Amino acid sequence: MPLNVDLHSHSSRSDGVLPPAQVAARAHAQGVDWWALSDHDETSGLAEAAAAARELGLGFIPGVEISVTFCERTIHILGLNIDPEQPDLRSGLAGIRGSRFERAGEIAERLRACGIADAYEGALRHVENPELIGRVHFARHLLEQGHCKSLQQAFDRYLGEGKRAFVPMRWPGLERAVAWIRAAGGKAVIAHPGRYRYTPQQFDALFDAFKAHGGAGLEVVSSGHTPAQCDRYARLAQAYGFEASRGSDFHAPGIPRADLGRVPPLPEYLTPVWRDWI
Ligand code: AMP
Ligand code: MN
Ligand code: MN
Ligand code: MN
Repeated sequence: MPLNVDLHSHSSRSDGVLPPAQVAARAHAQGVDWWALSDHDETSGLAEAAAAARELGLGFIPGVEISVTFCERTIHILGLNIDPEQPDLRSGLAGIRGSRFERAGEIAERLRACGIADAYEGALRHVENPELIGRVHFARHLLEQGHCKSLQQAFDRYLGEGKRAFVPMRWPGLERAVAWIRAAGGKAVIAHPGRYRYTPQQFDALFDAFKAHGGAGLEVVSSGHTPAQCDRYARLAQAYGFEASRGSDFHAPGIPRADLGRVPPLPEYLTPVWRDWI
């Protein structure tokens, strides 16, 4: 049996629903051997996560998932095995959280134009960490108020790219995000590449730029990937000489294929990003 390694998950410090210690407990209960918490643009849950993991005898890798703009679209770069106290990383993430705060006001204004008042206050009721307000918190409010039938529908109708309450963002560039992660002693990994709507030329540009900046790996196995996409990114990782990662992208209980430790194993011919850590 290969080790069950899950290096992508969220707590209530970003847009997950469980506090860090409960994500740790769930990872352990689901048979995960090594776990990373990787909240969006936020590292404030890592101390609680590390302490809980230690208690459980669960291997822990400190992580973060950074919002980045590349070719006019948002992508996510995982920083794994980072030192969250490193000053460049800390100030970079603080800047992103400031932009999220401003964006939240604009999302609320756009929802008001759709006839939905007080969405900011509503979203805030789903936020534990006000610095880290995101679209999922708005989606939970819209669902609760009956403006949609599912979180997915909240994105399809209002919050998704190009939809009525979508606010285009300019997050930091790829080079800066990779530099912060490397300065913090971590490895940069492109999260769920199958989710990006790039042309083949733009994907090539992404992988080339990522490699040139010192990026280490691709998240080959993700709950956001179909089996065919896992195969495709496994082959691409090999072709580009990237290491490979595996992560559930767990946010909340209730979606079995996106639960901790439940995504397929990494193909054996790939080099795991965690090889030197565990
Ligand atoms: P944000 O970083 O605030 O722009 O929100 C991005 C987050 O929204 C992702 O990490 C997912 O958790 C969630 N998300 C994005 N697209 C969808 C979708 N179509 N359905 C449900 N959740 C989504
Ligand atoms: Mn999320
Ligand atoms: Mn993501
Ligand atoms: Mn994620």
